[in-house]
Amino acid sequence: MEHVDVCVIGGGLSGLASAVCLAGAGKTVMLVEQSERLGGRASSDVYEGCFVNRGPHALCQKGIGMKVLGQLGIVPKGGTLALGGTLTEREHEYELPMTPLSLLKTNVFTWKQKKEFLSLLFRLTRQDLESVCQMTLYEWANLNIADERVRQLLYTLVRLSSYCDDPERASAGVLLRQLRLSAVGGVAYLHYGWQSLINDLREQALKAGVTIRLRQHVATIEGETPAIKVGLTETRFLSAKYVISSAGPAATYRMVKHAEKTVLARWKYTLIPVKGAALDVIVKRLPNPDISFALDLEQPLYFSNHSAAAVFTNHPDYQVIHTFKYHRASEIPDSDQDRELLEAFLDRLQPGWQNEVLKKRYLPAMTVSHSLVTPERAAMLSKESPAIKEIPGLYAVGDWFAREGLLADAALASAYEAVQDILKMEGK
Ligand SMILES: Cc1cc2nc3c(=O)[nH]c(=O)nc-3n(C[C@H](O)[C@H](O)[C@H](O)COP(=O)(O)OP(=O)(O)OC[C@H]3O[C@@H](n4cnc5c(N)ncnc54)[C@H](O)[C@@H]3O)c2cc1C
Repeated sequence: MEHVDVCVIGGGLSGLASAVCLAGAGKTVMLVEQSERLGGRASSDVYEGCFVNRGPHALCQKGIGMKVLGQLGIVPKGGTLALGGTLTEREHEYELPMTPLSLLKTNVFTWKQKKEFLSLLFRLTRQDLESVCQMTLYEWANLNIADERVRQLLYTLVRLSSYCDDPERASAGVLLRQLRLSAVGGVAYLHYGWQSLINDLREQALKAGVTIRLRQHVATIEGETPAIKVGLTETRFLSAKYVISSAGPAATYRMVKHAEKTVLARWKYTLIPVKGAALDVIVKRLPNPDISFALDLEQPLYFSNHSAAAVFTNHPDYQVIHTFKYHRASEIPDSDQDRELLEAFLDRLQPGWQNEVLKKRYLPAMTVSHSLVTPERAAMLSKESPAIKEIPGLYAVGDWFAREGLLADAALASAYEAVQDILKMEGK
């Protein structure tokens, strides 16, 4: 049986980052990915010469993810949209107040509401958000914001920065921290999509000596360090001193023998995923170039022309646009209805867009994150680690370790933590 120091399961951001770090530290690393290419949810597909992410993707410029990537010698390149845009509400359209000037100009608020919103923004830059992790955003907003409409705009902006449309369930501290991180540090759309990041990681992995096996589905994980048996098929096995799974909590649970006796069982049965429907479109030209970005105040809808900030194609006119409908945890989504909503949102913002379409792709049920961070989850996170304590040598990494940031930040931070733990065990 082939033996390696580390077997990494999954070739998305967190798997690749783990593999690069460990191979760079001198370990023999094999990365096993079930699909025919690397990238996972951070993949971009190429249509009509344009790179298209799977749903809208923006990277926090000051998040922990950037720091981890920096340690691996990767500097993501992209562009940022100017803060602001359009806020729709039924038949009305307003300027989205994201800067002091747009707050002054917008008609979405009365003067009294503007004053309250401004003082809210000021408070958010200073408030100790750790202390409000144990209440929901809904509870926090009711205590701290008098005006219903100001609360509504806060929920809209939180949804944008975290993809979470559950103020009644999610931790105030975690969501407000994410809003502050995105608003103050900024977010970037990456040139040629997030695939460019994956390609950079792949290059570093190969340079560091990682063996990459595509189209290999890991079915079983058995035993503990120093010889964990990884089952690729019923008859093909690999032995590894350490295994890092980035396949997600439920998929990892299915692979691991006796997983029911581990923390994986708690994750599988208690984590609430954050989901949504994405309509990704390439148009020959944008019918209404004045609108590059829009949110709706009442409905959980997003629109952004990513080509306004970053390069996705060498064609001078083609534009890559993304629309998204955020799902609530309690919602049973109606895929057709969501699609109609997204198309109607585009009809309103970009009338005639259907005549310009080169490619339209609808992804009705995307898992943006494996875990919404409730106050209970926030408390639990401080006690957890990517190491599966019950099975020495086994680690699980991914976006549900939202200790330092959410989404890709959490995925990359957990990968880094698992690597540090392994290197410590190895006395490095
Ligand atoms: C619509 C959408 C929008 C998003 N927008 C943003 C954003 O704006 N900002 C942000 O920071 N993040 C965003 N994210 C989240 C970001 O994409 C993820 O956090 C990140 O890509 C997760 O990387 P990962 O490697 O942890 O997981 P994944 O990308 O899910 O990778 C897991 C890999 O494991 C493989 N695998 C699974 N099971 C097995 C098995 N048994 N054997 C072998 N391989 C296996 C899978 O094929 C996959 O390639 C978004 C996600 C979505 C879906």
